[in-house]
Amino acid sequence: MSANSEVSDVLIIGGGGAGLTAALYTSRAKLSTILLEKLTPGGQIALTDLVENYPGFPEGITGTEISQRMEEQAKRYGTRVEYEEVSGIEKKNGLFLVSTAGTQTFQSRTVIVTSGASYRNLYVPGEKELTGKGVSYCATCDGAFFKGKEIIVVGGGDSAMQEGIFLTRFVTKLTVVHRRDKLRASPLLQERARQNPKIKFEWDTVVTEILGPKKVEAVKLQNLKTNQVREFKTDGVFVFVGHDPNTAFLKGLIDLDEKRYAKAGDNLQTKVPGLFVAGEVHAGAVKQLVACCGEGCEAALAAQAYLEDQG
Ligand code: NAP
Repeated sequence: MSANSEVSDVLIIGGGGAGLTAALYTSRAKLSTILLEKLTPGGQIALTDLVENYPGFPEGITGTEISQRMEEQAKRYGTRVEYEEVSGIEKKNGLFLVSTAGTQTFQSRTVIVTSGASYRNLYVPGEKELTGKGVSYCATCDGAFFKGKEIIVVGGGDSAMQEGIFLTRFVTKLTVVHRRDKLRASPLLQERARQNPKIKFEWDTVVTEILGPKKVEAVKLQNLKTNQVREFKTDGVFVFVGHDPNTAFLKGLIDLDEKRYAKAGDNLQTKVPGLFVAGEVHAGAVKQLVACCGEGCEAALAAQAYLEDQG
């Protein structure tokens, strides 16, 4: 483990909307800022086709473009981005020691956790084995592989509708498999999905197994009202059934709620002074890009005030 002798003012964990906004604010406040990101900047937004509800872009903006622009803006004021996955945090003698899977240890006076959430699996037989062989969790990454095919989308939320509509650019038929008879998605996305001639719905239904063996050939569908199970032929399974927070590295350090989201007080400070949370990882946060950016700003200002108090 190589301990980094440099001590930053602010260390931000996660490069989604919340993290990149926090970085923009702390860098502009002339606080030395390091942002650790495990994959690509933008987080979940980078995997989204078109962002239509971020103010200032009346025609929408692609998830990739807004992510790249946010990163560029934070870097312009001095944020240093490092590609590392955080494995643990401890506070010693007033300093945070943040260790990573890449075996580095970063030292910082404050930490802002904006690690977001990761997509949830179905946990059914065949899912793990056929991931990348017809099972996918990312429409923008994998949609083009399904040109001319028939697929299913599992879930009834905004992600399932938005990504499903995007996937109809490629596929000939898309069946939404939803466990209830009412969608959770916003009315606008519901309306667009219902009006799309390529989209059909299987209500009150769950996937109980994904069948291969080498690539997805079919799924087993169970109707929850009749309990009837049947085989349904499909070339692909896109899973959009929500997210779980990325908080494993915080366990034992701060309070988490029953779903493992991070609890914080009014100014987004956790029970550990100098450790803030913002964005989707924060218990009770509104899971929208604009709201996550707002929390990123709030946490940055709170970290700045904390550092000023510490002298
Ligand atoms: P979500 O809102 O939690 O919806 C998850 C969907 O998957 C629900 O319909 C749920 O069914 C279903 N589901 C959950 N677990 C399941 C399981 N084990 N098997 C089968 N179905 C299951 O998640 P999301 O759609 O990813 O959205 C997350 C957040 O991001 C939301 O706040 C959403 O508004 C936001 N978002 C916004 C946009 C946008 O504004 N354009 C786009 C994407 C996401 P039930 O309905 O029965 O619970």
